[in-house]
Amino acid sequence: MLDRGWDCVDIVFVTGDAYVDHPSFATALLARLLESEGLRVGVLAQPDWRSAEPWTTFGQPRLAFCVSAGNMDSMINHYTANRKVRNEDAYSPGGQIGLRPDRATLAYCQRSREAYPGCVVIAGGVEASLRRLAHYDYWSDKIKRSMVLDSKADLLVYGMGEKPLLEILHRLRNGESIETIRDVRGTAYRLKKSEDLPEETNTTVHLPSLEEVEADKSQFAKMTRMIYENLNPYLGITLVQENDLEAVVVNPPSLPMETVELDRLYALPFTRLPHPAYGDKKIPAFEMIKHSICTHRGCFGGCTFCALTAHQGKDIQSRSVESVVHEAAGIAADKQRTADGGRVLPNDSVARNSAVSISDLGGPTANMYALGCKNETLKKSCRRLSCLSPTQCPHLATDHSALIELMQAVRKIEGINKVFIASGIRTDLALCDTRYVAELTEYHTGGYIKTAPEHTDPTVLELMNKPPIENHEQFCTLFETINRQPAKGDRSVVPGVTNARSVVPYLMAGFPGTTLAMTIEAAVYLKRHGLRSDQVQEFTPGPFELATCMYYTGLNPITGQPVYVPFRLRERRLQKALLMYHDPNSYHDVKSALREAGREDLIGTGQDCLIAPYPPKSDAMRRTSRVKRLQIKNETDKKKKEERRTMFAEQLRQEEFERQEKLRAERLEKLRAERSERSYSGRPHSKRSSSNRPHSKRSSSGRPDSSGSFKRTAKRPFKKGVRKGPRPGGGKPFSR
Ligand code: SF4
Repeated sequence: MLDRGWDCVDIVFVTGDAYVDHPSFATALLARLLESEGLRVGVLAQPDWRSAEPWTTFGQPRLAFCVSAGNMDSMINHYTANRKVRNEDAYSPGGQIGLRPDRATLAYCQRSREAYPGCVVIAGGVEASLRRLAHYDYWSDKIKRSMVLDSKADLLVYGMGEKPLLEILHRLRNGESIETIRDVRGTAYRLKKSEDLPEETNTTVHLPSLEEVEADKSQFAKMTRMIYENLNPYLGITLVQENDLEAVVVNPPSLPMETVELDRLYALPFTRLPHPAYGDKKIPAFEMIKHSICTHRGCFGGCTFCALTAHQGKDIQSRSVESVVHEAAGIAADKQRTADGGRVLPNDSVARNSAVSISDLGGPTANMYALGCKNETLKKSCRRLSCLSPTQCPHLATDHSALIELMQAVRKIEGINKVFIASGIRTDLALCDTRYVAELTEYHTGGYIKTAPEHTDPTVLELMNKPPIENHEQFCTLFETINRQPAKGDRSVVPGVTNARSVVPYLMAGFPGTTLAMTIEAAVYLKRHGLRSDQVQEFTPGPFELATCMYYTGLNPITGQPVYVPFRLRERRLQKALLMYHDPNSYHDVKSALREAGREDLIGTGQDCLIAPYPPKSDAMRRTSRVKRLQIKNETDKKKKEERRTMFAEQLRQEEFERQEKLRAERLEKLRAERSERSYSGRPHSKRSSSNRPHSKRSSSGRPDSSGSFKRTAKRPFKKGVRKGPRPGGGKPFSR
């Protein structure tokens, strides 16, 4: 602040992520945007939430604290689908866990209030956005009320925050009070007990209250359906939900950003680096995306296990080709700079090893760039959740020309040697334009292409809003056909990928509606089609998803039909193992699943058999070596324990010995002192001092030695039963 000559800041962003100045990190994007608007911005990244002290770092912000849990919901960030603590936080330096609290938005808002009571607090980010109304919280297995109420934030910004946040801050800067800013799109606020509820009209919808959705699961399903039906920002619907005596009002979603607005946003001066305070500590999420480029926002796929449509919207907001090319050229130039120790080289002298690969050119779904509804009028009144499911809407534009042009433009940039498309591809959409599949196969895959059929069963796919598996088959056939043709472009293979030019499907286990029998059939399908997934995701019920509603209520919120839910962790584990039947680690779980389902016919050596009758050698060897390792470890532990015990006993013995010695020494010392005291004070020296005694008396018990002194001789041993010490009553020291 001193360097910049600031006496205070206007905004303090509080975030649960490490600070990385890259457009893929929401805090960086918003902070740069506000900075470009002339606001002074401070960022508190991963502050210690146990006290309010870190909140005073920048002093009281002039306008507001803007609080976010980070790029992910903090509970998903902390816990696995089995509610176990994750080993790593991808958004923290060194992947360190525990740098943000559970439900971070609540803790951060509370600390902001504690530090500066009366200061404006605005909550935002994915966590707040997806918890803006009553929702099911998987980790506590409870219905939770809106975060607007729990956080006591003045406003909650949901969805993509640029437009709403700018408007709120401009109005605050112009002296408007936060209490009067209640008409901003993309925000939610709390209605106090004393305030009247807005009337139900064409544009104001009352949702079932919190008490109703808590008491009745069908009401929860109804609420979910109503929320999803009113997501279209052009409908302009305000949602109201009562909660006890208070209420939450959710204004209509923010309107999509125009291409020019997005271009301006991504042209801001990002350093594309983590904050220097992190030193050498790597931030895993940054390592993954540092050379990636986001081309667009939004998704019209409407997959029910993904809340992206509820956050970013169904409208695709795309950047221009020029803007993306400019960013890619910037990445290439940065690489050249670092390759030559900071000096920019002329293009013709760029060393080959300074060329850069773009790790991803995409968005939520890679092949939705510049696509969308052809009919502007229909688009503004459309309430469909997906433009692709259950059937493809005839009004959807599916021409991938703009995307192909973009891909060609980026890979032509000097200093870029490869451009990968790593974002998910919607295969049913890709099949509408085979030129895209050809372009993708020729130039943009690294040895394999990842697709996301998620399952093979038609019922499950319908519940997921995914295309039928036949669609995926067609895509694979097309991909293989193109691969068989002579290569026109760069079909290089990523180092380390051995199974060149293949399709790797992403699958999901434990999704509502999936039974063990369906998963067995899915595994058989995968085997017949030579497909192997290296990653099977277990369904995690995140807040606000349609699938979470199915999980909690056992009902499909769209149709109201009952849905089977695999609740038990064991069943979900078996489903996961079945989808990875080829993995030796899954052998025993697959065997249990097949036995449980009465499908022992799939254990054997037949064509459709999923596993052999006996564990694979590698598995047996692995198990044996594991047992051996455990045995050795146990023995070593036992030995170490024994050694420790012996050492401890020896130490105790030694200590006891020393203690006894010390006591004896003290006793002796005391005794000597008593004797000496008695001899000097009790009797005349002439009688006590042996040196003063007459020799005639000493000579009877000893003889003088050569030096002239007297000592006891061995000739007169002590008689048995005769006291050696002084007699009681102060008798002579030796008996005679
Ligand atoms: S009309 Fe069709 S293409 Fe247009 S938004 Fe609705 S579903 Fe999508």
